[in-house]
Amino acid sequence: MNSIQTVGIIGSGTMGNGIAQACATSGIRVVLVDIAQAAVDKGLATVAGSLDRLIKKEKISAADKDRALSLITGSTNYDDLKGAQLVIEAATESEGLKVRILQQLDGLLAPDVIVATNTSSISITKLAAATQRPDRFIGMHFFNPVPMMALVEIIRGLQTSDATHDAVKALAQALGKTPITVKNAPGFVVNRILVPMINEAFFVLAEGLATAEDIDAGMKLGTNQPIGPLALADMIGLDVCLAVMNVYVAEYNDSKYRPAPLLKEMVAAGWLGRKTGKGVYTY
Ligand code: NAD
Repeated sequence: MNSIQTVGIIGSGTMGNGIAQACATSGIRVVLVDIAQAAVDKGLATVAGSLDRLIKKEKISAADKDRALSLITGSTNYDDLKGAQLVIEAATESEGLKVRILQQLDGLLAPDVIVATNTSSISITKLAAATQRPDRFIGMHFFNPVPMMALVEIIRGLQTSDATHDAVKALAQALGKTPITVKNAPGFVVNRILVPMINEAFFVLAEGLATAEDIDAGMKLGTNQPIGPLALADMIGLDVCLAVMNVYVAEYNDSKYRPAPLLKEMVAAGWLGRKTGKGVYTY
């Protein structure tokens, strides 16, 4: 049973506003906090636009949209988080920034409030150790776009209590998501498997075993993925894929994570994927 009625969200960017939408459309009150009013406004406008698209597709009614928006309060003031039973940190991916935010929350939130982070790469155990509530700290890794993606990886730090895990799992289910429980380790589960698969696709491409188009068609049709690994690399950013492999090399100290030389070469050329107009494919 979900007992969380108000969720605070730190950061109203891509992930923060998506999480806000998922909460509000499930009837959960949200306080969405960012550093500048412009960022808050942009986050709220993104939610409104996303709900409009759902109305067009006849998935929700105009009244559903109004109800959801009425449940979200935008703010630039951390004090407005005080009524929340859970705060999800979804600010920019920087360890120093996240530690500063978590310490600010410690001084503000009641001791029983759970704090979760949406980090994709920073150790949950390490962030928990930087707070005064390590047992009430947990990873809640949503996927982009949050309103569409069913999965939430729930990552237990070494210190996370069962009660914290159970409360966050119940919330994920109340949002209509499917949670999986994962122990803290670099890449968690999904990215630990996904990014080495993408890396392997670059080895296969470099070995000339097949064209990029055929590698992607093979993986799409042969493993029922909606997009091939090379096209996905272009979407994620080749630099991001390389950085993730480098983290695995450093953290696991295992040569099986060796980045594909072709991936490194393309990153060196500035061919980073869709965001630069060229990666494996040209856009
Ligand atoms: P983003 O850049 O779209 O948004 C980050 C927001 O945080 C910005 O609006 C920024 O102004 C705000 N912010 C920065 N400092 C702040 C502070 N002190 N207080 C409040 N707000 C602050 O980033 P994003 O893509 O939404 O990523 C957010 C987090 O989610 C990161 O930890 C990222 O690793 C993780 N994540 C991202 C994705 C993805 O696909 N984008 C997927 C899963 C997890």
